[in-house]
Amino acid sequence: MEKILVTGAGGFIGHHMVRFLKKKGYWVRGVDIKYPEFSSPDEADEFLLLDLRNFRNAMEAVHGIDKVYNFAANMGGIGFITAVKADVMRDNVLINVNMAEACLRAGVKRIFFSSSACVYPTFKQTDPQVTPLKESDAYPADPDNEYGWEKLYSERVYQAYHEDYELDIRIARYHNIYGPEGTFEKGREKAPAALCRKVALAKDGDEIEIWGDGEQTRSFCYIDDCLEGTYRLMESDFEKPLNIGSDRLVTINEMVDIIAKIAGKSIKKKHLLDKPQGVRGRNADLTLVKEVLKWEPQISLEEGLKRNYQWIKEQLGIRN
Ligand code: NAD
Repeated sequence: MEKILVTGAGGFIGHHMVRFLKKKGYWVRGVDIKYPEFSSPDEADEFLLLDLRNFRNAMEAVHGIDKVYNFAANMGGIGFITAVKADVMRDNVLINVNMAEACLRAGVKRIFFSSSACVYPTFKQTDPQVTPLKESDAYPADPDNEYGWEKLYSERVYQAYHEDYELDIRIARYHNIYGPEGTFEKGREKAPAALCRKVALAKDGDEIEIWGDGEQTRSFCYIDDCLEGTYRLMESDFEKPLNIGSDRLVTINEMVDIIAKIAGKSIKKKHLLDKPQGVRGRNADLTLVKEVLKWEPQISLEEGLKRNYQWIKEQLGIRN
């Protein structure tokens, strides 16, 4: 049985991946600087609290491991990544350089790196009706924020280790992954969770705050689809970066309307134009991933948001 390391196992995608891999019968070690907020660390066979910015800790994390899913990162939603730049770049570069080197030295068979749609250039994302971004669009490079620059740099770190030392790598560029058991308050949450929380806390007819004019567009991928796509990529022989996301484009205003409908509430929108909103439009081109992995998202935005909304409502202790 293969031994798998999931880093960032105290976070959203990481702890879901621990559960996913356990169901498939793998032996799984989780590593993070914190325990999962909404589940038990005992879902993994072993859970180690280790700071991967430290190289010795990275070596301890990969000891005896066959394959690594590397989700560890200092990150958050648009509010967080536009406010915290130096820490994001320093912490994440350290984590990724340490993990590449540790995997090489320990003879790990394969490492997966969770990159991001934030690597794509700003100049291709100026219109809400954006052309879906394909993998080759990443260059010439012009990411919108430091988080995206770090992801692009770290992709190249893994690619360099692959070319020079034959480290076996897999790279996904995630496009807005959402779902239950993801952070929804305190500042690191992303748009779907923040909007579900605001609608859940609002009374029928209330106004909620929206960042920007709400006409910015994105696509959103439900966690279960992300896990399946990630696993297929890991088990494939595809060594280049690959989009994992949805190609259904929605405005933030449309997303609020979908959540309000799920909640059965009439919700008014107050647009805060001075708040960060990121690029104007971003969508995923799934041509390559469909071809390579025979994968595409199965869960509609309405269904995914319904599950996410119900879970956040329960967390907030709201009954009706
Ligand atoms: P998350 O913040 O929930 O999980 C990241 C985890 O990494 C956290 O639990 C955090 O404590 C841990 N971590 C941070 N610094 C660490 C350190 N020094 N050592 C060990 N662990 C550390 O984020 P997530 O949404 O689960 O994202 C997982 C990965 O996917 C990240 O690399 C993220 O950049 C990437 N990604 C996520 C999305 C998304 O929409 N969720 C989109 C693009 C890329």
